[in-house]
Amino acid sequence: MNIIVMGPPGAGKGTQAERLVKEFSLVHISTGDMFRSAIKEGTEMGRKAKEYMDKGALVPDEIVVGIVKERLSKPDCAGGVLLDGFPRTIQQAEALDEVLQDLNITINAVVSVDVEEDELLNRLTGRRVCRNCGTTYHIKFNPPKVRNICDHCGGELYQRDDDTVETVKERLKVYKKQTMPIIDYYQRKGLFLSVDGARSIDDVFADISDHLEKIKGRG
Ligand code: ADP
Ligand code: AMP
Repeated sequence: MNIIVMGPPGAGKGTQAERLVKEFSLVHISTGDMFRSAIKEGTEMGRKAKEYMDKGALVPDEIVVGIVKERLSKPDCAGGVLLDGFPRTIQQAEALDEVLQDLNITINAVVSVDVEEDELLNRLTGRRVCRNCGTTYHIKFNPPKVRNICDHCGGELYQRDDDTVETVKERLKVYKKQTMPIIDYYQRKGLFLSVDGARSIDDVFADISDHLEKIKGRG
């Protein structure tokens, strides 16, 4: 099974993706995580991506499509993938279709986690991420057992540079203008499902899992 998880920044895509990839044995492909790794490694691509990320803007399509294409071509993706945060523009969605066709991969579902703007601001400004393993927490809604320490690996938690109020507002604008048009793109293909993300992490997960189990049953 191959799925796309979309939604505005802070809706819980990464949180749900962490659980879904375990439940359905999928490879997690998060373009945001790939860029953050490239920045950490100090690569040229990471340096370029950071310029856009720090402003809350999207990284240019040709860069993003290039890294996704390379990742999808690896053999471990044959067993199923979860795309998190990609595609984010109509151009990326069209390019993805071409790549998938070449690789003989079919998308089975596009799940959008939807949450209203005030709540997104609360979620993003309180988000903390493990520097070591990337696990996501929230200071109030999903805190670690020990303050600032990752439950899984003991790594230090940090606040992402782009999780400031100002950058978050820009990212929400960008989502509406550049990413929302892909909803229609996937609705026309009959793949789109919107899930109410303003509930507990467990409830959202149960909802998405039910939907995916039904799709699996059909396949
Ligand atoms: P995205 O990947 O969509 O940007 P994240 O999964 O990183 O979003 O979640 C954003 C923040 O909101 C994180 O701090 C996360 O712990 C928290 N969060 C995720 N899902 C929920 C939820 N259902 N209820 C409350 N907080 C949540
Ligand atoms: P995320 O981790 O999904 O919140 O992404 C963080 C940032 O990485 C975004 O604000 C963009 O600057 C960049 N990014 C991630 N995915 C994409 C994408 N598919 N297209 C363009 N930019 C992206």
